[in-house]
Amino acid sequence: MSECLFCKIVARTIPAALVYEDDLVVAFDDVKPQAPTHTLVIPRKHVASIAELQDSDVVLLGRLMLVSNTVAKQKGIADAGYRIVVNSGVHGGQSVFHLHLHILGGRHLAWPPG
Ligand code: AMP
Repeated sequence: MSECLFCKIVARTIPAALVYEDDLVVAFDDVKPQAPTHTLVIPRKHVASIAELQDSDVVLLGRLMLVSNTVAKQKGIADAGYRIVVNSGVHGGQSVFHLHLHILGGRHLAWPPG
């Protein structure tokens, strides 16, 4: 997906503040943070949204969640608590159509979300 912004971050053709990477996923800080910690965890391969995941992606999905936990510990927000958000589609507020988990923390997060 040569025109996908997050594929370009994975390919290192545009810069990002990388936090973590392995064979399946990459994590980097959000360019417009909504909390003191706001990191995105994404699959290396292009998946447009969570709605596009297949049964064969079960290992990838598990890794995305486990790495989110790793990132929270690395960022020092694991003990106080944090939120994982996955926006899907237009009503879900998704603006970049490459699956990503938002890891938000460092302040009290209100509920319900807007
Ligand atoms: P969503 O609205 O759920 O699709 O989230 C997309 C997120 O990507 C937003 O929080 C943006 O601030 C973030 N974002 C957009 N471009 C970049 C970039 N170049 N580097 C890091 N984060 C980005």
